[in-house]
Amino acid sequence: MGLDEIRRRISAAETASGRAAGEVTLIAVSKVQPPDRVEAVLDAGQRVFGENYVQEAAGKWPGWRERFAGIELHMIGPLQTNKLKPALELFDAIHTLDRPSLATKLARQVQVRGACPQLFVQVNTGAEPQKAGILPDEADAFIAQCRALDLAISGLMCIPPEDRDPVPHFRDLRDIAARNGLAGLSMGMSADFETAIAEGATHVRIGSAIFGARDYR
Ligand SMILES: *Cc1c(COP(=O)(O)O)cnc(C)c1O
Repeated sequence: MGLDEIRRRISAAETASGRAAGEVTLIAVSKVQPPDRVEAVLDAGQRVFGENYVQEAAGKWPGWRERFAGIELHMIGPLQTNKLKPALELFDAIHTLDRPSLATKLARQVQVRGACPQLFVQVNTGAEPQKAGILPDEADAFIAQCRALDLAISGLMCIPPEDRDPVPHFRDLRDIAARNGLAGLSMGMSADFETAIAEGATHVRIGSAIFGARDYR
């Protein structure tokens, strides 16, 4: 499909849902992709990228940052507390703030560093046992807890259950954000980003539709 096509479709979805042009941030999810595909997308001017694994990202991005100005990196995978320090050195945003123990350790590191990445709280809107994220019922309390730790929360993130209508999940996320005064909504992937934009997404995370299928071998 490719970057140009995705940019065009995002722009059309913004227009169709009465959103301002350029309101939605495209995060190009480059995890596991071969370097030549990522470089082609960098050459085409894309600067916002998402990665799932700290170690993989740490191996790839410092080099590209020397060659391409203005790169913004978003952590979208589960974050282990023992990877927090390298993650803070690398990432401009974390979309997977998903538990109190991580919030506590993050707050301590932010104090030490005097800088904080943009933060999204991950909500497990489908209450799926295998998935990370705060349960919807516990989201308000968790957001309050983060704020009490002086963590500035920019928004919420969700990954709806596979093979189900994502709309109720996008709406739940939007409702939780609205009642907590949060503007950011990180929702929508290759298969459903236009729907997510219609439901208010501010950040869409798109991998395979830009780069092609991932090969995990
Ligand atoms: C891999 C991943 C994506 C991108 O998925 P695609 O279906 O390839 O667009 C988006 N969000 C998260 C959290 C991911 O892990």
